[in-house]
Amino acid sequence: MSQQGYVATPPYSQAQAGMGGYSTGFGNPPPQSHYGAYGSPPQGYSAPPTGVLKPPASSPSGMPPILVSSQYGANIQQNGAHPHSFAPPAASDPSMSSYGQPPQSAFYSMAQSPPPTQQLTNQMSSMNIAGYGQRPMQSPSSSAPPQQFQTSPPQQFQTSPPQQFQTSPPQQFQTSPPQQFQTSPPQQFQTSPPSAMGHPPLSPPGQQPPSLGSPPPMATMGSMSAPPMGMSGPPGPGVHQPPLGPQGYQQQPGSPIAGPYGAQMAGPQMAGPQTGAFPGGFPGAPSQMAGPPQKKLDPDSIPSPTQVIEDDQVKRGGQVYVSNVRGQVPPLVTTDFTVQDQGNASPRFMRCTTYSFPCTADLAKQCKVPLAAIIKPFATVPKNETPLYIVNHGETGPIRCNRCKAYMCPYMQFIDGGRRYQCGFCSCVNEVPAQYFQHLDHMGRRMDMYERPELSLGSYEFIATLDYCKNNKPPNPPAYIFMIDVSYNNIKSGLVKLICEELKTLLDRLPKEEGAESSAIKVGFVTYNKILHFYNVKSALAQPQMMVVSDVAEMFVPLLDGFLVNFQESRPVINNLLDQIPDMFADTNESETVFAPVVQAGVEALKAAECSGKLFIFHSSIPTAEAPGKLKNRDDKKLVGTEKEKTLFQPQRGVYEQLTKDCVAQGCCVDLFLFPNQYVDMATMGDVPSHTGGSIYKYSNFQVEVNGQHFLNDLKRDVEKSIGFDAIMRVRTGTGFRATDFFGAVHMSNTTDVEMAAVDCDKALTVEFKHDDTLSEEAGAVMQCALLYTTIGGERRLRIHNLSLNCSAQLSELFKSCETDALINFFAKSAYRAMLNQPLKAVREILVNQTAHMLACYRKNCATPSAASQLILPDAMKVFPVYMNSLLKTPSLVGSTELSTDDRAFYRFMVMAMGVEETQVLLYPRLIPLHTMDVSSESIPAPVRCSEERLSESGMFLLENGLSMFLWLGQACSPDLIQNLFNVPSFGHLNSEGTSLPVLDNAHSRKLHSIISSISQQRATSMKLLIVKQKDRAEMLFRQHLVEDKGLHGGASYMDFLCYVHREIRQLLT
Ligand SMILES: [Zn+2]
Repeated sequence: MSQQGYVATPPYSQAQAGMGGYSTGFGNPPPQSHYGAYGSPPQGYSAPPTGVLKPPASSPSGMPPILVSSQYGANIQQNGAHPHSFAPPAASDPSMSSYGQPPQSAFYSMAQSPPPTQQLTNQMSSMNIAGYGQRPMQSPSSSAPPQQFQTSPPQQFQTSPPQQFQTSPPQQFQTSPPQQFQTSPPQQFQTSPPSAMGHPPLSPPGQQPPSLGSPPPMATMGSMSAPPMGMSGPPGPGVHQPPLGPQGYQQQPGSPIAGPYGAQMAGPQMAGPQTGAFPGGFPGAPSQMAGPPQKKLDPDSIPSPTQVIEDDQVKRGGQVYVSNVRGQVPPLVTTDFTVQDQGNASPRFMRCTTYSFPCTADLAKQCKVPLAAIIKPFATVPKNETPLYIVNHGETGPIRCNRCKAYMCPYMQFIDGGRRYQCGFCSCVNEVPAQYFQHLDHMGRRMDMYERPELSLGSYEFIATLDYCKNNKPPNPPAYIFMIDVSYNNIKSGLVKLICEELKTLLDRLPKEEGAESSAIKVGFVTYNKILHFYNVKSALAQPQMMVVSDVAEMFVPLLDGFLVNFQESRPVINNLLDQIPDMFADTNESETVFAPVVQAGVEALKAAECSGKLFIFHSSIPTAEAPGKLKNRDDKKLVGTEKEKTLFQPQRGVYEQLTKDCVAQGCCVDLFLFPNQYVDMATMGDVPSHTGGSIYKYSNFQVEVNGQHFLNDLKRDVEKSIGFDAIMRVRTGTGFRATDFFGAVHMSNTTDVEMAAVDCDKALTVEFKHDDTLSEEAGAVMQCALLYTTIGGERRLRIHNLSLNCSAQLSELFKSCETDALINFFAKSAYRAMLNQPLKAVREILVNQTAHMLACYRKNCATPSAASQLILPDAMKVFPVYMNSLLKTPSLVGSTELSTDDRAFYRFMVMAMGVEETQVLLYPRLIPLHTMDVSSESIPAPVRCSEERLSESGMFLLENGLSMFLWLGQACSPDLIQNLFNVPSFGHLNSEGTSLPVLDNAHSRKLHSIISSISQQRATSMKLLIVKQKDRAEMLFRQHLVEDKGLHGGASYMDFLCYVHREIRQLLT
């Protein structure tokens, strides 16, 4: 990232002297927080003001330089110095213009800016250019480059239907042109002449002048003809397929067309009717999809996620995203960018489904685009970004609006010479406390604005006062309790020994406040099967002492002193215990276990110690022993596909429901590591973890040699990760809308407070908003997420994330500002919650219907009228259908008896806690070609589309989706490559279903290991590598992740789904 031209001015960059501004307001710096990369202040800044702001006042990207009160204040000038600033906000916000960035800025919304050539060369290719003009922002059509009309027409006429070409020159996209595809229904080709379409007169193809009045001429392309459509025989003249003109032959089929995909898009393969292209119709509508002669459509003709990802990386990658503009759409989650907070929370913390909310509830209802924010309050901040500053308002606590209780933030408007401020959320006018008074400058901003994070930044923390603590007492540091199931299975598999060995070193890595000598977190140990064993590991003891509790019905903790200890102090006793545990139970025959009493014991221990904490439970089997929460096998595949299928995912209530409440009340997070050999009723066992901010890990048929390292990697990361405890979160909004629904690993005891026993760096909460009044374009939509929590050091803090969005009465603005990755996260979580209460078939139908409704609304209201045969997608949502189709095929939703109920329930829990980055890669895995990798390059090879068509017998591919990783080897894979990577002479010498990849001393091996390691570092969970040989049985595991293809367990191919959705859209529009 370049920082050229960046002005690193005060507040935060001032060393000592500059601290003046903080002396009163900030107070002493709290103990170093463990989040963020505090240790590595980016260069370029001077020493941090001691005692003031938390992080050293240095930052790579520089701290808030001259902050502009930005969009909030009128007439504020700024930004000139920031070359990387984002583009001006949407036109609807007048204040934006003051920033003066050229619209061409790299950050300019994709929809608005002329995409670089690169961009258009892709899938957008085969789209129809027809009806380009956009309603709202008409661009002179004359700007359309002539080429457009020179090249496309010819091809168009060549062979009617299935041709494709690249029609879109960049310039053409100047004003967010919708993507268009023609999924031509058969009938059209057969019967309807163009005029019959009721379409505005089009220039006859071949006669289109290079420039025309708007709307621009349609460059129709041939088509994604949907199979069904009874298109038979050679293409006949169709609506947009006028008779061949001479020009049509100028470009021969097969001749490269401009752009990377040119060759592939060439006519030949499209030319004749082919069968089998649509093996499976979209579920529920197979019959319509089936039709006699089928045309094989070129997959390159439909929008490609890999291309969209690559384009965004090219356009915005490596840049600094400055958050000073209201409603600006951030780069994609897959893009590598640096965030500079200048008044709005980083997209790492908050990402929205659209950055322009509709002004009215009616508009929102009409477009059906969910209004939501995905909040990851503890998201990891990269080392080159500034960690959160800490603000101390002293004994009176953080300054808040008297009416709505919103915390002081950049959206508060100071008036009356600085004596009062108007709340940006509820408009209430508040007095400024005397100790907080500050004069205003000539622009109405406080003189100390840039010295106070809460006045100039989107995210920061406040030190909470005793008023924010339970019983008005400062909290104790949290405790981690390790609870090991020592029943027969876990002993026999070697798991118990593995855990005990690992803990000896792992406990040295407990998270600690920066600067602290050792972690403040206390540790405790329990082993159990049908009964529980507690251990006294007080440092004064020579030997650990065991206390047994066999009455699991009334769980209590038999010892207080000596159970939760400091690891450093008790290390010898703890190591002694960890050495003994595997031996103590080596001869066990006990195979029955309890589970709820184990969780209860953990809660009671934390309660007795008056602290919050986390339970690490290592469990093997369904708890069938006589005890509260006893479970029985209720798996029933016969329910799959019926109205009762949902019951498979509903947890057993009663004991577990109460347990969740107890855990949340105590700030007790439950992490469950499961090692099942059979059904364990995951839906119930995962219930407590999933409502306490905990994580669930599952290692079926655990074998130390096979999954040992995978498990240890997960455990290590889980123990070390940054986390906050006993959290309560509230999302406040400006007037006119409010947060109505929350999806995530949380507990809600009322409708507004989100309770999380803990929240770590991987957990994200998805919040849906609804209108309760009209929003104004001028005020926009502001939101503030406030999270009260206890740090690992035992300090009570308030973490604040603020975000401001635009509002518009134009739906086109909303569609232009959509964020597909965030949208799909919302849909995934809402569907996964709905599946507990509705038949899965209904849930799937709702998803498809809503997809069609959103796109139909865009078509109707935002796109220029065009032939119904064209599928027109908003630019910002052009790959939405492929993600939606992938979601429909996920194990939880697909409804196949071939999938294990526990796996489906497990997958559901995982997704419910995911952030946008995680759902994106899960629903569209990265498929990386390795056979062509450049061993001298540092980068990961560009991924290809997730389809079997992209594989080749001579190829080798790595696929990862954040949960699993596969190395697929084609049968004709180069022996040299095999030798280099596996140290065996050929494909035939490789074992099937291998999981180990030797580390060899050659460039290819080093490169592959470096790719794998780099990917692993980006993911929240460790991924076990599975090596899959083409045509081996295990290949099915790999193939189910090729999400553009027809699902192995049901579900349509991407192409079929697109055709199906198009049909639905057409129905909605008629
Ligand atoms: Zn207020």
